[in-house]
Amino acid sequence: MRRVDLHVHSTASDGTLAPAAVVRAARAAGLAAIALTDHDTLDGLAAARAAAGPLEVVSGVEVSVEVAGEDAHLLGYLFDEGSPALADLLAAGRDSRDHRNPRIVEKLRALGLDVTMEEVVAFAASAEVPAGAIGRPHIAGVLVEKGHVSSIKEAFDRYLAEGRPAFEPRRRTTGEAAIRAIHAAGGVAVLAHPVTLRADVREPAVRDLARAGLDGVEVAHSQHDAATRAWVASLAKELDLAPTGGSDFHGAAKPDVAIGTGVAGNVEVPYEWLDGLRARRA
Ligand code: AMP
Ligand code: ZN
Ligand code: FE
Ligand code: FE
Repeated sequence: MRRVDLHVHSTASDGTLAPAAVVRAARAAGLAAIALTDHDTLDGLAAARAAAGPLEVVSGVEVSVEVAGEDAHLLGYLFDEGSPALADLLAAGRDSRDHRNPRIVEKLRALGLDVTMEEVVAFAASAEVPAGAIGRPHIAGVLVEKGHVSSIKEAFDRYLAEGRPAFEPRRRTTGEAAIRAIHAAGGVAVLAHPVTLRADVREPAVRDLARAGLDGVEVAHSQHDAATRAWVASLAKELDLAPTGGSDFHGAAKPDVAIGTGVAGNVEVPYEWLDGLRARRA
């Protein structure tokens, strides 16, 4: 079976491998194609393509939206990379990060942790392809580097996750508006990791997004167990959504997640699922 990974991050957002290194890892894993899906930026695509060789690199991006009062992530694929509608959507996402990040740093400082926004910006800029979108994992990286915590995960668990003392919400656009922008760019819109939606709104949220024109949904994801995969697959069938999937690889920021195969082999995405997305484009 030819396999692909349609959910992968690089240093252009909050992954720890540069796009060229992501591509090398994908080839080493025997993948036929990847979609680079950095948060709120397309900055990694050119370097990934330049290094791709026989590996297919599909245009992708991940954006945060509000659905049923909850934070949800949408993936856009196969869009026109020069689209002004898409550029506006991604710029709004980056603006909301620029608004939020200094507030998170202030909260950390108020908790007595020595960290500055300058350090976060320098950390995010230090990669071969620097981060076009700075997120909590970069703040977490500085906390690790300075010895305040021993891992990215500990930084989230103690300070940065929702409900923890340095959490700060971020302005989000609606799912409908993001789907419209992705469609205006000629792309397809996919709901990422539906398992991360609160259990009581999970299924209604998928149905709402489907009514708003959603094209596909992640069946395979490193956070999906077998029961979740089965549930998403049956809902996808009922709602006529294309099944998709990926590892959500972030390099050392999520050390248990491998490109192409997820956590202990829980992700397997056949090339046909990429064909299925392409078919929705027309
Ligand atoms: P942000 O985009 O700034 O809201 O940060 C959210 C990102 O942080 C997610 O997309 C994940 O990549 C990462 N993340 C969230 N929770 C954790 C965690 N517990 N450990 C490591 N990374 C995480
Ligand atoms: Zn991420
Ligand atoms: Fe996500
Ligand atoms: Fe992701």
